[in-house]
Amino acid sequence: MHVRSSPREYSRYNTTYMNTQSLVELKGIGEKIATQLQAMGLRTVYDLVWNFPRAYDDYSNVVPIAQITPGKVTIRAKLSSGVSRYSRKGLHMTQVLATDPTGSVTILWFNQPYRLTSIEQGTEYYISGEFSLKATRLSITNPSIEKIDAKKNHTAKIVPIYRESKQISSRQLRVFIEQALNKYVCSESLPLWLVEHYRLIPLKTALQELHFPTDAEHLDAAKRRIAFEEVLALVLASELNRLENQKLTAKSVAFKQDAAQAFVAELPFTLSDDQKRAIWSIYKDIEQTTPMNRLLEGDVGSGKTVIAAMAALMVVEAGYQVAIMAPTEILARQHYKTLQNVLQYGKHAELVHMLIGALTPKQKTAVQEKIKNGSAGIIVGTQALLSPKVAFHDLGLVVIDEQHRFGVEQRRLLQERLGYMPHILTMTATPIPRTLALTVYGELDVSQIKTKPKGRKPITTELFPSEARVEVYRRVATQLEQGRQAYVVCPLITDSDTLAVRSAETIYQELQKTYLKGRKIALLHGKMKPIEKEQIMQQYLNGESEVLVSTTVIEVGVDVPNATVMVIEGAERFGLAQLHQLRGRVGRSDLNSFCYVITTTNDAPGKRLRAFTTSQDGFKLAELDLELRGPGALYGLRQSGELDLKIARLSDLTLIAEVREAAKLCIKKNENMIQYPQLQKHIKKAQIITHFN
Ligand code: ADP
Ligand code: MG
Repeated sequence: MHVRSSPREYSRYNTTYMNTQSLVELKGIGEKIATQLQAMGLRTVYDLVWNFPRAYDDYSNVVPIAQITPGKVTIRAKLSSGVSRYSRKGLHMTQVLATDPTGSVTILWFNQPYRLTSIEQGTEYYISGEFSLKATRLSITNPSIEKIDAKKNHTAKIVPIYRESKQISSRQLRVFIEQALNKYVCSESLPLWLVEHYRLIPLKTALQELHFPTDAEHLDAAKRRIAFEEVLALVLASELNRLENQKLTAKSVAFKQDAAQAFVAELPFTLSDDQKRAIWSIYKDIEQTTPMNRLLEGDVGSGKTVIAAMAALMVVEAGYQVAIMAPTEILARQHYKTLQNVLQYGKHAELVHMLIGALTPKQKTAVQEKIKNGSAGIIVGTQALLSPKVAFHDLGLVVIDEQHRFGVEQRRLLQERLGYMPHILTMTATPIPRTLALTVYGELDVSQIKTKPKGRKPITTELFPSEARVEVYRRVATQLEQGRQAYVVCPLITDSDTLAVRSAETIYQELQKTYLKGRKIALLHGKMKPIEKEQIMQQYLNGESEVLVSTTVIEVGVDVPNATVMVIEGAERFGLAQLHQLRGRVGRSDLNSFCYVITTTNDAPGKRLRAFTTSQDGFKLAELDLELRGPGALYGLRQSGELDLKIARLSDLTLIAEVREAAKLCIKKNENMIQYPQLQKHIKKAQIITHFN
């Protein structure tokens, strides 16, 4: 399959002049409105057509007034004059009467003072809202209404609701979009065989139905069509990345059974089945001259480092070097120690070296020299290890811990510098939902360690409202008295004018002055200098501070077994996957651990927070997060705001399975995507954004 985009080829098939023409060409749009639309990101006919409704009002199931029952109803009725007034409490109320041939019903709007002047008496409307007992009488409260257009057919319909701005209403957008759809030149964006095979409706129909659905069934078909295309771009992008990776060459690392056996025999524990499977896959991968690109997923403490060590062992046995990268110097140190410790079983401990910023210039030069002449076999450090200043003798494997993905761009740079591609093993404790693994992360092979670390107890998790903060910190104090340590995580560094949540700085001061007076409390946040952060972390690790008040910078990898309490302030602002990560900072020993979740809002805790207190299964929580909040909210997908899925839900396994099959067919057919510029454009974009970092 080819995805090329030389400007000439592209423009030949590019969207026609019509689609890119400015909106002043449309009726009702002058310079002023055009500017207002521009502020909403709508510049062209194309923009309008692809600006999908955020919701719909369903007026399709009209009930005669005589037959309405409490609940959501839609009626078709004339509105008569009514009253519009403020109550003594300052609440505004509009009350009118709706009448159809079968009877009348009261309509109430609260705090929408413009209502009375905007309705036309004696005109027929669709009226859709909640029919219930309000203010001692049955009425339809705060309904949406839609004037029935006498020129159009009179069948009830589903009406699109668009994202509005202060100046531009949803109703106006509807009129503009209707015109835009008529002007839009729409060529099919997917191969015809694919459209037929998967029974998709044509793009033109889909766009029309998405804005102005004939009925619920047509709307569903339209959504499926657009979602299919969106997911297809993602899947094709990652499949193409995979193909690109397969064109590169890596060093083949021979499998030496005796070396592996000797190592395992000396380990003070036996490998779990998942660990065995993972290392076996890795050994098979690195024997190939195609570069490995594997993700090793497993909870903190599930034993990923041993796997990395076993991979490293085989690579050094074959005479190549291994670079192991952690996100921070503290974690690099931690790894360095663990690896030295583990690799003594493979008699390779002396091959492990560390290169970090905190070394003296002299130490650095010494390590650099060893890296250059090859006597340093395994080098632990941060991402700086891959800077051009570090000259490897013969790098065979790169292990990346907790950095999410190692993007195509980084891979390309490595390839350019080394003239070949090292094998890559990425390790993460972040649970990645299966659907994401199949789409966004599709180019990676995945190994999972699902076995729970030994001796882990469930972490008691409880929800508290803001007012119960005293109780929470009383419990924290109890733990401190027993010699334990605590984390307090806040969503913001400094107080914000608009948000009611307590910031790290505020909590830090509050704790010192009140709840935890006299305790050794430290503050850590992302605006501090790296060296400062490292010092504060190190002091906490050494037990010199008892409480660490922090933003989410402590999220990954930190291992303080003596910490048994995690307090999360403003918890409603965190995603489930992130909350789970934070909770994972405690419970790292056989001590009882606690996670106290404080919410700032007065609302009853939502499904998310309730799920968090009842489940400790990271995968389950990540799936739920994806379903409830979409991929943008998922930890690790920082840039996925640009994932730009308008319709598709990445939790839809059925759709994803179908699309994956379709993508394989496209590749097998060697489909020339130049004929489908729109899809090609989306693939190109996805190829870049699906590589985080
Ligand atoms: P991770 O990197 O996944 O967070 P580690 O590799 O640091 O976890 O492992 C945590 C601890 O568990 C280490 O002390 C390690 O030696 C130990 N360990 C690893 N695998 C096993 C196993 N199969 N049985 C018992 N202990 C193990
Ligand atoms: Mg680890």
